Amino acid sequence: MCGIIGYTGSQNAVPVIIEGLKKLEYRGYDSAGIAYYDGNGINVLKRKGRIAELEQYISETIHNCQSSVNCQLSTINCSLGHTRWATHGEPSDINSHPHVGNKRNIAVVHNGIIENYKQLKEYLQNKGVGFASETDSEVIAQLAEYYYNGDILETVIKVSNRLEGSYALGIMFCDKPDLLVAVKKDNPLIIGVSKHGNFIASDIPAVLKHTNKVFYLEDKEIVILYKERVEFYGIDGEPITKTSEIISWSVDDAEKGGEPHFMLKEIKEQPKTLRDTINSLIKDGENKKVLDNFNIIRYNKIVITACGSAYNAGFAAKYVFERLCRFPSVEVELASEFRYKDAVIDDKTLVILISQSGETADTIAAMREARAKNAETLAIVNVVGSTIAKEADYCIYTAAGPEIAVATTKAFSAQLITLYILAVKFALQLNKISPELGNSLMEEIVSVPEKTALILEQVDEIQKHSSACVVYKSIFFIGRNIDYAIALEGSLKLKEISYIHSEAYAGGELKHGTISLIEDGTLVVAIANCKNLHSKIMSNVEQVASRGAKVIIVGNSPESDIVLPDCNELFSPSLSVIVLQLFGYYVAANKGLDIDKPRNLAKSVTVE
Ligand code: GLU
Repeated sequence: MCGIIGYTGSQNAVPVIIEGLKKLEYRGYDSAGIAYYDGNGINVLKRKGRIAELEQYISETIHNCQSSVNCQLSTINCSLGHTRWATHGEPSDINSHPHVGNKRNIAVVHNGIIENYKQLKEYLQNKGVGFASETDSEVIAQLAEYYYNGDILETVIKVSNRLEGSYALGIMFCDKPDLLVAVKKDNPLIIGVSKHGNFIASDIPAVLKHTNKVFYLEDKEIVILYKERVEFYGIDGEPITKTSEIISWSVDDAEKGGEPHFMLKEIKEQPKTLRDTINSLIKDGENKKVLDNFNIIRYNKIVITACGSAYNAGFAAKYVFERLCRFPSVEVELASEFRYKDAVIDDKTLVILISQSGETADTIAAMREARAKNAETLAIVNVVGSTIAKEADYCIYTAAGPEIAVATTKAFSAQLITLYILAVKFALQLNKISPELGNSLMEEIVSVPEKTALILEQVDEIQKHSSACVVYKSIFFIGRNIDYAIALEGSLKLKEISYIHSEAYAGGELKHGTISLIEDGTLVVAIANCKNLHSKIMSNVEQVASRGAKVIIVGNSPESDIVLPDCNELFSPSLSVIVLQLFGYYVAANKGLDIDKPRNLAKSVTVE
């Protein structure tokens, strides 16, 4: 998520920071800011919007500076910069980073999510500390200032030990204006060392112009950066020795974390996306609050509406809602259809809207249609402060972070896991499952991220199967029940990026017509996770194989070509989809296509 850059050295820091921020733009952001010491104290300049707007604001402020203190650009040699991708509090000037403590003694830039920020905020408020922003990040600056006694290391150790969640931090102290501190947990941070100064950065492209010598920080290692040296410490305060690495990547390679495409990078980020999203819903914070206060009992109908992959997430979730909640009516509608169908809904209907961007035109229209008919709306959205997030009655944010590839992967997975958690919560509220079953289902959900990580370990095997499939002109995905739902997403992913014709079919439906399309040289990908339907889908496999199709089986039984970890079948789409995304990716990669920007497609479809 988003970007951090810090510099202390002999060069003018502000241009170095701005340039570094621009190199981090690819990560996605909604606002940007810098902190620097102006001879008098820490100054923070930050703006919602693009880096160009921040640049304009900085040049006006620094050049128009009338105070007696020396604030000319050329005298600033230490600075922190940040591009924010909002997770807590909408994109705004005030919520942008850096954040400072009340006394402006300490400035902090943060990437990640502080899960226990509410408790920390309350703790500090009880001590009389006032807060300026809605972010989780501000607690870090306030806490650091509260603890600060002149000992940097001790303060950073105390702060780190109180933070739960994920963080990469750059910290600046007013009384030590040439020095920066870095620490991280579960979010990336590197230290770059150059002849003219030292850098903190969330990623290599930000420093490559100045140096290719970097240190990768491990969780809870603390770095103090001086102009001429860097010192590393463990969380126990003991000095540690680290070995630097020499980066041979180009800037372009570096942006993708060494992967050839953003799509592959994002596929591989999914264990973290899932973990972050689950934590945001069950541990602490706004999502949990929305969920805890939500009561399904007053509704008699659920309509899930969305477009593209988000629709497929809703379609898979329908099986889970029905199975667990036994709810009288769960409908799934394409938003572009729902908006014009004069839907039979009223104030007893819950309309669930799913959109990565929160700006999908058809989904916005569906939301407005639902609200006009007095239905209540619950949005599942990735972009904080987006139109759907603001207008829906309730909003849950997926913690996927910015997604760059047009074909969604990690945002889809985050939507799906959110829907599972909703289904379990609703089932408990409706008394359709026992608390014991609820607990064991939640445990299953919590174990999904590590199971997806196991699948990612099989990436070479999946690549081998997929690469051989590039010759097929038509590829079918089949499954039954929830496996059929995820077959739809597998087929969509393949079509989007490989331009190979593909269909998804419910296994039992083949005989009603589609089987006539199966012939020698057709490829069928069969998804087989539903235990009670195993023999049925295997019969479908026989039917297509006997008509000449080549079959690849993705499932949890040993005869599968790609074997998935054992999992409650209701949540198995989260595992199957990793294989299907990789399948689509490698087929397209073998064709040498522009995978991150497939023809005719846009990331966020803001037109009808
Ligand atoms: N959670 C923080 C916020 O919303 C940091 C987001 C980021 O990583 O940019 O401000």
